[in-house]
Amino acid sequence: MQMGEDIWYTAQRNHMVDRQIAARGVSDPVVLDAMRRVPRHLFVPENLQDDAYDDCPLPIGYGATISQPYIVGMMTALIKPKPGDRVLEVGAGSGYQAAVLARIGCRVTAVERIPELALLAQQNLMHAGVEGVIVITGDGTALPESEGPFDAIITTAAAPDVPPSLTALLADGGRMVLPVGDRDLQVLTCIHKTGDDLTVSHHGAVRFVPLIGAEGWTPV
Ligand code: SAH
Repeated sequence: MQMGEDIWYTAQRNHMVDRQIAARGVSDPVVLDAMRRVPRHLFVPENLQDDAYDDCPLPIGYGATISQPYIVGMMTALIKPKPGDRVLEVGAGSGYQAAVLARIGCRVTAVERIPELALLAQQNLMHAGVEGVIVITGDGTALPESEGPFDAIITTAAAPDVPPSLTALLADGGRMVLPVGDRDLQVLTCIHKTGDDLTVSHHGAVRFVPLIGAEGWTPV
C-alpha cells in the first residue's frame, strides 16, 4: 500500500507543479524540480494529507498556514536560489518552504516564533528526509547582524514595513521577498541589495498571517 500511496502522491505533485505553478508563469527549472521532489503531504496535518496538493493554503495549527503551492513557487523563484546559497526564512511554520530551498541545495536557517511550530517543522523535515535546514525558535525580526550575511531572505509572514534588521542581514547582491501591507492584505515585495542600494519591485496581492515581533505587528 505504501508504494501505491507514493505513486499516487507523486502523480498529484507533478500535476500541481504543471497546472498550478509552471502554467502560471514560474519557469525556473531549479524551483520546479525541487517542488516535484518535496513530499508536501508530509508537511500538512495527517487528516489533510489528501488535500496537500490542492490549489490553496492549509491550516497547520496555532493560527498558521502552509502557503498555497503557487505562492511558494513564485516566492522561491523571486529570490533566484542557487545551490550553496545561505538562505534565511522567517516563519518556518510546517517547514515546507525551507524544505523546497534545501532541495535546491541552499543552506537554510529557518526561524519560527512559536516553539511548537518550530518543533513541528523540525519533525516534518526529518520525516521527509530533508537535510540542510537549521530551525531556530525566536523572533526573526530581532536577529543580530552577526547571524548574516544571507544571499537570500524569504519572509512568509506579513510585515507592516520592510524590517530594517532583515535588509541589514542581506549580503551585497542579496535578494529578499516578503509580503508588505496591512494585517489582512499585502503586496508581495522583492528587494535587491547592491552595495547600500535597495531596489524594490512588487509582484501582486497576497494574504499572509501577520509577522509578529520587534519589527512586525504586536500580538492581538
Ligand atoms: N513558510 C511556512 C508557513 C508560514 S505561516 C510553511 O512553509 O509552512 C507564517 C509563520 O510565521 C507562522 O508559523 C508564524 O508563527 C510565523 N511568524 C510570525 N512572526 C514571526 C517572527 N517575527 N519570527 C518568526 N516567525 C514568525
